[in-house]
Amino acid sequence: MTTLGIAGAGQLGRMMTLAAAPLGIRTVMLDPSRDACGQRFGDHLVADFDDLEAMASLAQQVDVATFEFENIPPESVAKLAEQVPVHPPAEALATARDRWAEKSLFRDLDIPLPPVARIDSQEDLDQAVREIGLPAVLKTRTLGYDGKGQKVLRDQDDVAGAHAELGALPCVLEGFVNFSQEVSCLGVRTAKGQMRFYDLVVNEHDAGILFRSQPAPGHRLQSLAEDYTGRVMEHLNYVGVMAFEFFCVEGQLLANEIAPRVHNSGHWTIEGARTSQFENHVRAVCGLPLGSTETREAVVMLNVYGERPNVTELLSIPGAAWHDYEKVPRPGRKIGHITLHAADMRRLQGIEQAARACLRNQRS
Ligand code: AMP
Repeated sequence: MTTLGIAGAGQLGRMMTLAAAPLGIRTVMLDPSRDACGQRFGDHLVADFDDLEAMASLAQQVDVATFEFENIPPESVAKLAEQVPVHPPAEALATARDRWAEKSLFRDLDIPLPPVARIDSQEDLDQAVREIGLPAVLKTRTLGYDGKGQKVLRDQDDVAGAHAELGALPCVLEGFVNFSQEVSCLGVRTAKGQMRFYDLVVNEHDAGILFRSQPAPGHRLQSLAEDYTGRVMEHLNYVGVMAFEFFCVEGQLLANEIAPRVHNSGHWTIEGARTSQFENHVRAVCGLPLGSTETREAVVMLNVYGERPNVTELLSIPGAAWHDYEKVPRPGRKIGHITLHAADMRRLQGIEQAARACLRNQRS
């Protein structure tokens, strides 16, 4: 029997644990929060991610380790790797943590991306704005997520002092992309190099925050997205699920970012694909063969922020599934997601409308 270590016991760790259970795989999660939402389902070590002794203790209890998110200190990843195999590899985490490293990798692998410059000072920013033009987006190189640590620069007034506004941290400046769609490609790779991809997912954001994801079987950019995602996974000798987010512009893909882990835009796979992203991630990191990534039927996922929906009403809708992360609701906090599935798109639209009526105070 395999025991899987997971750094992080939030909703991603929880959904990995739930996917591991039927395979007879136990999990031990390490998370600093005593009431982390995954802890009820697997063993839980309460420790900070930079606690090297705790990492060594986690490694002692497991056969293989993985991560719920990329911002684990490199020393902690190295500590784990001294004792057990860790997937995905440290290089994938390091690349995804740093926007400049990430963009440099895309460039090295001939994957198109928006114009970008490295910014370490206001002078760098002034120079980059002259080259890239406006509008543009200034983003911190590390620890940015859900639109945090970024600022859209629309005119010269926005440029003055913008670097200081982001804490004078190392940044990148990216040209603003007038995209027609944002999509993500979820790929999974085994240690032997077997790769599978889910249908391309169309994502809708509001103020940088994801609220709706829907797979688009037969999307005309599917094979291009698989090509780019496969290039990155092969280069990194990647094992597990990876999400690659792209902007669609004039029938082409421009790389935005990679997430070296299971991803919110793949939550629909629990009900909507033959094998969920969580199960395939667990299978890949535990050395098991991958399951089919085929989409079962029409499906859409809605994130739920701030307040629980009317669950009784929601679950009376055929094809509605509610995933409650058991988090204390707070304004703007992601506390769960809804998956809706139906035999065809027409029926799906009907149930999506009904499901949205059960959402209170939602952004959509
Ligand atoms: P990120 O954290 O880089 O994925 O950015 C969060 C969201 O902000 C993206 O999903 C886009 O909706 C938007 N965004 C980020 N970068 C750009 C850009 N260069 N041009 C236009 N929109 C962007």
